[in-house]
Amino acid sequence: MSHDPNCIFCKIVAGQIPSKKVYEDEQVLVFHDIHPWAPVHILLIPKLHIPSLVEVTGEHAALLGHMSTLAPRLMKELGVTNGFRTVINTGPDGGQEVYHLHMHAMGGPRPWLKG
Ligand code: 5GP
Ligand code: ZN
Repeated sequence: MSHDPNCIFCKIVAGQIPSKKVYEDEQVLVFHDIHPWAPVHILLIPKLHIPSLVEVTGEHAALLGHMSTLAPRLMKELGVTNGFRTVINTGPDGGQEVYHLHMHAMGGPRPWLKG
C-alpha cells in the first residue's frame, strides 16, 4: 500500500494534518516532532507508506540511503553542529508508536541525552 488513509504520517504527507515542515522532495518529507525529546528533534519519513523497517526490501535501499544522507545535512542546517542521535524504532518491543517508517534525528546541547 503506497498510502494508508488511516495513517497519521500519510495524512501529514497529504497535507490533511499540519506539520512544521523542514524539507520535502519527491520521496521524502521531514518535519519537527510534535513532542521533542531534544532541543532539535526531526522526523524523516518516506512519502510512501512503509509500516516499519521490517517491511523494507532491497527496492528501498536508495530511499533509506537518501534519508541517511539527508539527516546530517538537515541537522547542520538547523544549527546542530556538535553531533546528534538517529533512531528508528521498530515494532512493539522497539517502542514504535506510529507504523509509518520514520527516522528520528535528535540533537542540540545536552543534557537531553541519557545513556
Ligand atoms: P515512534 O515511537 O513511533 O518511533 O515515534 C513516533 C513519533 O511521532 C513520536 O516522537 C511522536 O511525538 C511523533 N508524532 C506522533 N504524532 C505526530 C503528529 O501528528 N505530528 C508530529 N509532528 N509528530 C507526531
Ligand atoms: Zn503512512
